[in-house]
Amino acid sequence: MNSIELIRIGTKILQKSSKISAGLDSELILSNILKTTREKLIIHPKKNINKILENKFNSDIKARKLNKPIAYILGYKEFWKQKFVTDNNVLIPRPDTELIVENVIKNFKKKESKNVLDIGTGSGCIILSILSERKKFKGIGIDTSKHAINVAKINAKMQQFGNRIRFINTDIDNFFSCKYDLIVSNPPYIKKSKLSSLIEDIRNFEPKLALDGGPDGFSTILKVIVKSSKLLKKKGMLFIEIDNTQVIKTKEMLKKYKFFTKDVCKDLSGNNRCIIAIKL
Ligand code: GLN
Repeated sequence: MNSIELIRIGTKILQKSSKISAGLDSELILSNILKTTREKLIIHPKKNINKILENKFNSDIKARKLNKPIAYILGYKEFWKQKFVTDNNVLIPRPDTELIVENVIKNFKKKESKNVLDIGTGSGCIILSILSERKKFKGIGIDTSKHAINVAKINAKMQQFGNRIRFINTDIDNFFSCKYDLIVSNPPYIKKSKLSSLIEDIRNFEPKLALDGGPDGFSTILKVIVKSSKLLKKKGMLFIEIDNTQVIKTKEMLKKYKFFTKDVCKDLSGNNRCIIAIKL
């Protein structure tokens, strides 16, 4: 069978199970198997595909049909300016989270050297993107998941950060360290009771640890704020990703722990998504 025929078959299967991006997913899956780009695949539609690769394609299409996220099938996700290795031990990097990177860059000049901490680093996408934009920054990423730390280390190695970055497998409560100029975090912030109503792609595949924000959604947000109030230097900055509905309560928590809320930024859908605070 040739590539265009396979792409058509894959697309039809995914369309039947109502996948919005059926065509794109089918093309991405085949180009990933052939270790080529989507563009090259389309330019050579008649390329013959051997039986082994065809079987692999069929099994990936089946996984997608069963709602496995495309990022886990491909093994990577693009975030900011890089591809990040992504497996089911880490939350899939989301475009909304790029808001943190964008705002850190806005607030710090290229020549500044700063010490960054990323709480709940997952794939490492936030801190590694920041370090790629600010060459004099150094950082530490922590995560309670050992598997996530392994993924973050792979990403750091692939992007050649050398000793500018360290990843540590630790719970936030057990992390004691020097002071930081800035802290970033995309903590789990979904209410426990809402986890079951998330779309199947997320609910059945992404790590609960990275999504479950406890009974009110604020368990980890509060931990991040309390810990950051101790670990940030005076006038240090905190960037946290939150849900649209969490602004008022997060601001109250920040105030209680002696932060000034500098800004609340909206994502591309117009939802409040990133809160920026300064340690007084
Ligand atoms: N924004 C993510 C979602 O809606 C949640 C990420 C998180 O809890 N940190 O799936």
